[in-house]
Amino acid sequence: MNRQDVAALVRPNIAALCPYSTARDDYKGPLGIFLDANESPYPTGYNRYPDPHQKLLKQKIGELKGMPVENIFIGNGSDEAIDLLFRVFCRPGVDNALAISPSYGMYTVAADINDVEMRQVRLREDFSLPVEEILSSCDSRTKLIFLCSPNNPSGNSFSTEDLMRIVKDFHGMVVVDEAYADFSSVPSLRSRVVEECPNLLILQTLSKAWGMAGLRLGLAFADRYVISVMSSVKYPYNISQTVQEAVLRQLAEPVEDRIREIVAERARVSEALSAMGIVRKVYPSDANFLLVRFDDADSVYAHLLNDRIIVRNRDKVAGCGGCLRVTIGLKEENDRLIASLQNYRQI
Ligand SMILES: *Cc1c(COP(=O)(O)O)cnc(C)c1O
Repeated sequence: MNRQDVAALVRPNIAALCPYSTARDDYKGPLGIFLDANESPYPTGYNRYPDPHQKLLKQKIGELKGMPVENIFIGNGSDEAIDLLFRVFCRPGVDNALAISPSYGMYTVAADINDVEMRQVRLREDFSLPVEEILSSCDSRTKLIFLCSPNNPSGNSFSTEDLMRIVKDFHGMVVVDEAYADFSSVPSLRSRVVEECPNLLILQTLSKAWGMAGLRLGLAFADRYVISVMSSVKYPYNISQTVQEAVLRQLAEPVEDRIREIVAERARVSEALSAMGIVRKVYPSDANFLLVRFDDADSVYAHLLNDRIIVRNRDKVAGCGGCLRVTIGLKEENDRLIASLQNYRQI
């Protein structure tokens, strides 16, 4: 697809949108006398509206990610970008979207909120991607395909070849959610959105490896046309001044050592759990969690809760019967998990 094909996917009312503008766009300096926005003139530290274009933040993120700023969208969590994709591309009650199953639940919630049909395609038993089935499940009204790699909750990455095949053969937007890419050895696809794949959008987040879940900052990387449309639909001041400043401060703290530690702990916990009699399978993971299959997941879940260890029970999720999803914590926390599970065996 080229950029014109992508433009033709955008809802007509959005393509015709005249976005909200601010007078501050006409004046770039910091030292003006600002009488344009009905703000309070008394300096509280917060009396001015924040930068709606998040220029400093985008510059810093662009440097870190090796991406041009015009290919970056910053949202109030990835959730904002997911919701915006439906509002930009899907006519309510008319268009549809497709997601893999099991995967992140927010794609379907956002589809439901926007009155958009969500088609679910089951991953294979080993959680690999059924590429042909995905492509054949689309019709002329399928506007979005959501693929999560590494996938939550299965933990596996999909091959670049399979993902790119869908990007090439699907006449719509392919969203690849890379929330856990920092923990994976499979390289990110984000560089491909620059002048190569205008129908590819990459989601990343500062909520996981970067340790900023509480700040709410999601990233989307896409063709500059797609980014400009998303930016015209978002709330103008979607990222508060406090959050912009805090994220800039936090981005200066390197996370490489922490990521290495989590990846090493992931291998250690996986090995320890695999050796336990109550564990049927520990799935391979490229993320900061493990999907673990037990004979009786509900009973193990209750036992862990009783030891004040909270994990995610995925027993009722398609393809995940008997499974708990366990986040990799600090070494001491992982030790507590292992000890508690060893204790369960002795009951
Ligand atoms: C955790 C997670 C996110 C992050 O969402 P935020 O709104 O950015 O916190 C996105 N996608 C997946 C698949 C996740 O598991």
